[in-house]
Amino acid sequence: MDAPYAQQEQLEPGIGRVLAHNASAFTYTGTQSYLIGADEVAVIDPGPDLPEHLDALEKAIGGRRVVAIMCTHTHRDHSPAARPLANRTGAPIVGCAPLALETVGPRADASFDGDYGPDRVLDEGETVQINGKPITAVSTPGHTSNHLCFAYEGALFTGDHVMSWSTTVVVPPDGDMAAYMQSLEKLRQRDDRIYYPAHGAPVTNPQQYVRSLIGHRMQRERQILRLVTERARPIPDIVANAYPGLDPRLVPAAGGSVLAHLLDLERRGLVEQRQDSWNAV
Ligand SMILES: [Zn+2]
Repeated sequence: MDAPYAQQEQLEPGIGRVLAHNASAFTYTGTQSYLIGADEVAVIDPGPDLPEHLDALEKAIGGRRVVAIMCTHTHRDHSPAARPLANRTGAPIVGCAPLALETVGPRADASFDGDYGPDRVLDEGETVQINGKPITAVSTPGHTSNHLCFAYEGALFTGDHVMSWSTTVVVPPDGDMAAYMQSLEKLRQRDDRIYYPAHGAPVTNPQQYVRSLIGHRMQRERQILRLVTERARPIPDIVANAYPGLDPRLVPAAGGSVLAHLLDLERRGLVEQRQDSWNAV
């Protein structure tokens, strides 16, 4: 794919971006790491542990002091470069919590970075100072239970919570549709001027875009409810009807997303599961 790998693009004063070479059906052109600051910097979403990408980040840092290496969440395309970059720069890893484990077993699957170990976890509203200006954590669970966005000077670094190229994957058990919708509503009530997602172009009309995402999910929910009202259906049948012409590589993710909707509807008493099929109550 023709994309600006391994080089820093300056997006605005104090905000740079380096694209990692990990394009896929889930990552679009790859993971975008952001550099914030001037004579000292913070790195948001260091990305996958690829030597070429780490070299590019180190070159973009250019010997400046790294105040923090910050991760929005712990999917493998976001956080594995944190530790090697910390080793290269001496910077602390600050940001999302390691993945919480349920009492009955791990919520994680193969897409999670189990080696992630932060030096400091940021809770809602906590900050890192960069050149005297705060980068503030905005808790946004849904895509994952530990997802954070980071706010800086009117820009919001949205990780995978809001992306410009595709809707966000919300897959149980760690992904939670009700939490995701609440986290979208949280962004709708903010007045950020621009979003910088981990994948895809900046979003220059945040409020309008978030409203369209909320509308899209509500439409999807109505569609799923209509399908299981017609008759009891297993998830693959719902996916085939709700996502005609879907890229076969994305069918498992779509199935996860349908399950996330169904679990949310079940909690609200609107659907129930019998064997492998779901029906309206
Ligand atoms: Zn992710």
